Amino acid sequence: MNIVLITTEAVPFAKTGGLADVCGALPVQLAEHGHDVAVIMPAFRQIHNAGQPISHTALTVHVTLEGRDYSARVLQSTLPGSEVPVYFIDHPEMFDRPQLYGDSEGDYQDNCLRFSFFSQACIQAIDLLELPVDIVHCNDWQTGLVPAYIATGFGGYAWMERAATIMTIHNLAYQGVFHKHLLPQTGFGWEHFRADELEYYDQLNLLKTGLVFADTLSTVSARYAKEIQTDQHGCGLQGVLRRRAGSLVGIPNGIDTSVWDPATDPHLAMNYSISNWTQGKAANKRDLQESFGLTSSEEAPLIGLVGRLAEQKGWDLVIEAMRHFLSTGNRAQWVVLGTGSPEYHEALSRLARHYSDRLGLHLGFSDALAHRIEAGSDIFLMPSRYEPCGLNQLYSLRYGTVPVVNPTGGLADTVVDATSENINDGTATGFHLPTFDSYGMIETLSAAFSMRTNSPEKWAQIIQSGMTRDWSWGRSAIRYEQVYADTIARKTGRVWGD
Ligand code: ADP
Repeated sequence: MNIVLITTEAVPFAKTGGLADVCGALPVQLAEHGHDVAVIMPAFRQIHNAGQPISHTALTVHVTLEGRDYSARVLQSTLPGSEVPVYFIDHPEMFDRPQLYGDSEGDYQDNCLRFSFFSQACIQAIDLLELPVDIVHCNDWQTGLVPAYIATGFGGYAWMERAATIMTIHNLAYQGVFHKHLLPQTGFGWEHFRADELEYYDQLNLLKTGLVFADTLSTVSARYAKEIQTDQHGCGLQGVLRRRAGSLVGIPNGIDTSVWDPATDPHLAMNYSISNWTQGKAANKRDLQESFGLTSSEEAPLIGLVGRLAEQKGWDLVIEAMRHFLSTGNRAQWVVLGTGSPEYHEALSRLARHYSDRLGLHLGFSDALAHRIEAGSDIFLMPSRYEPCGLNQLYSLRYGTVPVVNPTGGLADTVVDATSENINDGTATGFHLPTFDSYGMIETLSAAFSMRTNSPEKWAQIIQSGMTRDWSWGRSAIRYEQVYADTIARKTGRVWGD
């Protein structure tokens, strides 16, 4: 199959979250399965720090938006460890900025223009690069216009007739909603500003546009695919998603085992595998305690947290539970890595100043530290309010760190709760919060601490069970292949493999 994946993030070029991990790893897996894959993304400032050589193609795209001409060079690199080409749309005014989507003031004001431009540039680049294309795989709201351009034959490119589209939702809460007066920036006329196309409660909604026009919709876990059709988790798009339920699939993300493997991870104080995890984890825990100036102790449970400091991730509950354990003199230690909302920055900084022997805090983005926290913690806490898939709990399982999660979306699908039944049959891999509040969190963490101290054989079994689960991309890539093939067959009648 010829696959073009359009995204704004891909490891190692640009990353704010899990989208980047997926779009860096899936194309490589698909290429290993024999498909021709190309990735197109914006030339954000960050791509030049990825350690991958970037060269110029001779090509330039020209897009006219609201009567103004914009041109961008097309740059080129490859995904590490593969020959998968990555093409970058290089428009410095739009993409050479400190951040991808916004700064401390909020989202960049011209995001509608930036990603309308990017989407149109992508369809033109496919043509100029003469990429053969059976499937165009779009990701999140920034690429939502692409399925609409293809479905309506925007630009009149011949390849559009045979290209089937898939739109993947990595997080339904981010939709690219703009004032309707920006509609002309998309290149569409007002005849398309209708409830079954680009309009959403009298506004422009780019994700909805993708959901309406793409041939197939996917999201990143089976549970989240169901949840987003409900009023509780549908973020206002539940109606659209229910109408398209027959074309919506849930495929869990995998983990890139060339990057996330405790046996080879270059960031760790000691590499380890299932055969020597006790020594390996102890060495990494000591390393973490030392670098954060925490009391050196094997017995004290160490809880790690890594993630965006956003309401979604349940930091309000974490801070309450943390305050409880720290103020009551509990010996548990905490290491937190994250960046995001100033209110969480402040609350965590206050606690870290007060309890510096038990709370280590790094407010920022550090890939190396994320790896060291996964390796050196006993428990990984991830109480997301909702979680499309979640990657950190998968890294935790592989690194022998017991995840404690709110059972929603991908967290429910990937972490098996330590009920007595699941412990007895050897399937338990972590703990589910019984209720989404700080009481539930305190109760569950206390139960985990107690099991670790008083039933070390059960604790070891949970760790080993998690470490042996296969969350590599291979299985998920096969699911994508099937979905691509079904989508091509539905759109064009062509049966892949014939
Ligand atoms: P989301 O995509 O909602 O942010 P995921 O769990 O799917 O959440 O993916 C988050 C990814 O981003 C993981 O690879 C995680 O390690 C990484 N990450 C998040 N915050 C940080 C940070 N402050 N420093 C380093 N890595 C981070």
